[in-house]
Amino acid sequence: MYYSDQVIEDVRSANNIVDVISSRVQLQKKGKNFFGLCPFHHEKTPSFSVDPDRQIYYCFSCNKGGNVIGFLMETEKLSFPETMQRLADRAHILLPESSDPVYNKQLARSKELQKRYFEMYTHAASFFSQALLSDNGKAARDYMQKRSIRNDMVRRFGLGYSYNSWDALCQFLESKGFKADEQLAAGLAIKGKNEGHYDRFRHRIIYPIQDVSGRVLAFGGRAIDDSTPKYLNSPETQFYSKGKNLYGLNLAKSTKEKFMLIVEGYMDLIALSAYGFDNVVAPLGTALTDMQAKLLKRYTDDVIIAFDADAAGQAAALRGLDILEGQGFRVRVLSIPDGKDPDDFIGAKGAPAFRNLIAEAAPLMDYKIASLRKSVPADAPDGDVRFLKGVVQLLARVKDEVERDVYINRIVSQYHIYENSVRAEIDKALRRDSRAPGRAAAAPGVNQNERKNSGNNAKPSEGIKQSTGAGAGTNAGAGTGTNAGAGARRGASRAMAYRAAELFILALLSTDNTLWDIVAEKLPPEYMEYENARHALTYACDKASQGRQVSPGELMRFFSPEEGDQFANVLTNGCYCEDNRRAMEQKIRELRAAHAKRHFRGAIAALENEGLSEAEKARIKTQIPDHMKMFDTAKTMGRI
Ligand SMILES: [Zn+2]
Repeated sequence: MYYSDQVIEDVRSANNIVDVISSRVQLQKKGKNFFGLCPFHHEKTPSFSVDPDRQIYYCFSCNKGGNVIGFLMETEKLSFPETMQRLADRAHILLPESSDPVYNKQLARSKELQKRYFEMYTHAASFFSQALLSDNGKAARDYMQKRSIRNDMVRRFGLGYSYNSWDALCQFLESKGFKADEQLAAGLAIKGKNEGHYDRFRHRIIYPIQDVSGRVLAFGGRAIDDSTPKYLNSPETQFYSKGKNLYGLNLAKSTKEKFMLIVEGYMDLIALSAYGFDNVVAPLGTALTDMQAKLLKRYTDDVIIAFDADAAGQAAALRGLDILEGQGFRVRVLSIPDGKDPDDFIGAKGAPAFRNLIAEAAPLMDYKIASLRKSVPADAPDGDVRFLKGVVQLLARVKDEVERDVYINRIVSQYHIYENSVRAEIDKALRRDSRAPGRAAAAPGVNQNERKNSGNNAKPSEGIKQSTGAGAGTNAGAGTGTNAGAGARRGASRAMAYRAAELFILALLSTDNTLWDIVAEKLPPEYMEYENARHALTYACDKASQGRQVSPGELMRFFSPEEGDQFANVLTNGCYCEDNRRAMEQKIRELRAAHAKRHFRGAIAALENEGLSEAEKARIKTQIPDHMKMFDTAKTMGRI
C-alpha cells in the first residue's frame, strides 16, 4: 500500500509521541523532556528521553531514536502499513485508498474475494462444530473422549467433525450462496472425475486453522478410523499458506510467559493447553519456515522446542533450530524421557512434571552435542574420532571466542575427551575457514587463539597476514594490502563526516524553520551525498516553498533505522547553537567545499584513466573550473 507524504504526515502529527510511548513506557517529566526506562535495552536508571516539541525519542545509553511511527514499528514489530493503520485508528483518521484507479479496482476485487473466503470458512467451521454435536458425530466424540480432549478444549479450538458423506458441506455452502468454483478455489471441495465436485473432508476430526487475528482460513482433518492419510489439510490457496501461519498463535500471542513452546502438531498443542500452557504454537505439518520464525519473532525472542522424541521429531527439530537460530532466537530444546510425545507425557505425568522439563531444557549447542554423542557412541567403531570431528564442526561455527571456550571446557569435562586435541582441531578448522574466500571475518579469532597457544612467539609475518584480512590471499604484497585498508578507513570516516553534516543541517532546519531562506539559496538537494538525506531535503524544501512548517519527527521517516538513530542523536545532543544562522551557514559552506573537493578529485582521477576516450576527457575538463570555482567560493566565504 502506498501512502502520500501528506497522509503519512497527517497520521504522524495526529498521534502525540508522548501519549503513544507512555502507554508502554512509564514517563516522567524532567525539564521540557520526558524520561523513562528504555524499551530497547535493559537498564535500571532512565536514559530514554521523549521530546514533545520535536516529537522524537532518543536513548542516551543505546542511542536508539526515531519518531512515533518508528517507535511502534520497533516495539510492536509491525510493518509500515500496519503501523499506519494502527495510528490512523488511534486518531480516528480514515486512511484513503490509493489514487491509482486500476490498483484500486484490483484491490477492491481482492478484498471482496478475501471477504467471501473468510465468510465461507466461518460458515464451514460452524457447520463442522454443529456436526460434532449431532447424532452422526458420535464416533468423533468417542474418539475425543479416548484422547482426553475436554469440552472446554473443543470450544477453545473450535474443533469439529466432517460427516461421512460426499457432499454434506458442499450442499450446505451452496445453500449459503457459495458457488462450486468458490468452494473449489477455497480448497473445501475437490473436482470430480466427470462433472461436479465433492467434500474434501469426510469423516474426520476438524481442527480450524486461524490466522493471528483469529480468522479461520484453513482446516486440518484427522482420520477417526484407519483411513489414509492420517492427517489431511486444506491446500494452499490465494489466502492461505501453511508456511506463513503458526497454529495456536492467535491464542498464544497474549500469553504472559516470556517464551513460546513450539510443538509438532495440533494434538500436542491442545493437550498442553488443557494443562494450562497458553504459550504454545505448532508449525502446520512442515518443518519450521523462515516466515514462521519471523512471525513468531514479533512476540518473543525466546523459544523452547518440544518435538516428539522419535527420530523424525529429532530431525525436524534440528532443521527448525537452525532457522530459529538464524533469526536470532534464544533456542532451547526440551527432551521428553522414554521417547514420548508431549501429549502422552503430560497425560501420564501432569503439568508439574512438564514444567520441570521446561526448566531443564538444554541450550541449542548442548542439545546438538548430546544428539551427536547419541548417534556416535563411544563404543561404536571410531566413535570418539567421529564424535570429536562433529564437535569441532559445530564449535568452529561459534563466532564468539569466550562462548567457544565455555563450550570446550564443558565438553571436555562432560565427555572425557582431551582438551588439547579439541583445541588443536578447532584451530585447524578455523584456519581453513579463514583461508576460504568470503570467510575473512573468522580471521581475528584465529589470530588470538594462535597467540594464546604459542605464547609470545607468534610469527610476526603471520600476525600481519591474519589481521589485514583483505590482504590475505592476494599476491599484491603486504604493503599494498595495508595501504588499501587505511585508504578504505579514511574513506569510511569521511563518509561518516558527510552524513553527520547532512543530518546536522536537516536537524537544525527542522528545529528552526526560519532558516529556509539560507538553505534554499545555498544548498541544492543534489549537494547531499546521502540519498535519504537528499529526499528529506527535497521534501522539506517543497513544503517550505508552500509556506508550511516542517518538524524533526516528520523528517525521521526518510531515514533507515540506523540513520534515524543518528538523526535523533544530533537533534538531542548536537543542535543547540548560540546562533542558528551562523551555524547553518558554516555547515553549508563545509558541505559545499567537500562536495567540490570530491568532484574535483574525481575528475582528476578520471583524467588519469588511460582507457578514457578523448571526447569523454574533454567533457570532464570543462567541468573542472566549476568545481574549482565552487571550492574557492566556499573557501573565501570563511574557514573550511
Ligand atoms: Zn536504550
